[in-house]
Amino acid sequence: MKVAVIGGGIVGVSIAYHLSQAGISDIVLFEREKMLGMGVTQYCSGGVRSQFTTSINVQFSKESIGDFRSLAQTIGYQQCGYLILDAGSDSLPRVKMQNDLGVASEYLSVDKLKQRFPFISAEGIKSASFFGEDGIADPASLIEHWHKQAVKNGVKFEFEASVEKLVEESGRVSGVSVGGNVGRYEVVALAAGIQSVELAKTIGIDIPILKRRKYVFMVEGLKIKHPLIMEIPTGWYIKPEGEDALIGMSGWEEKQDYEKKDESLQETLAATVKRIPQAENVHLKKTLSSMSDETPDKHAIIDNSHPGLIIATGFSGHGFMHSPATGRIVASLVKGEKPAIDISALALKRKLNKELVAI
Ligand SMILES: Cc1cc2nc3c(=O)[nH]c(=O)nc-3n(C[C@H](O)[C@H](O)[C@H](O)COP(=O)(O)OP(=O)(O)OC[C@H]3O[C@@H](n4cnc5c(N)ncnc54)[C@H](O)[C@@H]3O)c2cc1C
Repeated sequence: MKVAVIGGGIVGVSIAYHLSQAGISDIVLFEREKMLGMGVTQYCSGGVRSQFTTSINVQFSKESIGDFRSLAQTIGYQQCGYLILDAGSDSLPRVKMQNDLGVASEYLSVDKLKQRFPFISAEGIKSASFFGEDGIADPASLIEHWHKQAVKNGVKFEFEASVEKLVEESGRVSGVSVGGNVGRYEVVALAAGIQSVELAKTIGIDIPILKRRKYVFMVEGLKIKHPLIMEIPTGWYIKPEGEDALIGMSGWEEKQDYEKKDESLQETLAATVKRIPQAENVHLKKTLSSMSDETPDKHAIIDNSHPGLIIATGFSGHGFMHSPATGRIVASLVKGEKPAIDISALALKRKLNKELVAI
């Protein structure tokens, strides 16, 4: 079977690798850059967690975690734990749902939070949750690993090969156009990240991805050993990065290419010092800025409703941690098999349910 994968980010490379592992022999991956991982993936903080607010995301984490464990050395996977602080809602329903699905996350009252993490200021926090098996890994190493294995399995990687449009005949996607040349494929997997929006438009399909800019700041001088800490609903987080730390927030909607850098730095630093007063004297080391890949309900879109086309995009800040499950699920769809997880909640045409917006 001839399959084209568009996009050499973590999602496209996982799809190409898992297709080849599933016995599909004629696979080409098109990447418009000179190398892999140059889209949103290069800004990824590498967080890997099972603590989500919706069961579909917990299932994707459970389906992916075995890959992180078995590749731990190759991809620098460390279980440093994730602490999630709730400033607006109660953590208990989320923890119960996770426990029911076999994830042993813990509910922390404010008193317990203060005991376990005395460096945190709990002002305004209602409760929290912690799971010591959540952690971090290196996205570039995972791409490299899958790339090598996929090449061994016979996958062709075409670089500097920008797909201009999808080709459709009689209502079925039958190929892609690259440099004016049309290649024919039985299945096209669209995994071009944010640029999937433009490519899908070439056959009249709308993909809802918000234009949201994210800043991540690397800071030095915080001499505290801490897990990855996130706060709901602000989206503030801090991630250990060797001796340093990465700090960020949920991002800002952008109308044009307006950048909000100074305000972002001040807001993110202020949020950090509010939660960790000892962060008052940290120094900025590096700033990273990227568009994020968020859908309105912050869930990925994995959809095969259009004949000949599988869309896998809009991973909403979870694309790295869910890439192993996504690759296997897309491989099952290509082979016409039932995927390991019911993905109807991720359909392109789903209704927006505000209560099911993922965190
Ligand atoms: C600041 C930040 C922090 C994050 N932290 C985490 C985290 O801790 N954990 C986590 O799991 N996720 C995280 N994410 C999200 C994660 O990085 C993304 O979900 C993931 O990288 C998306 O991968 P992708 O392959 O879908 O997209 P991309 O990485 O954007 O890949 C798409 C690829 O398609 C190529 N392409 C585009 N158009 C074309 C075309 N026409 N022809 C050929 N090729 C094309 C691009 O060049 C690109 O290489 C974070 C994101 C950001 C912005």
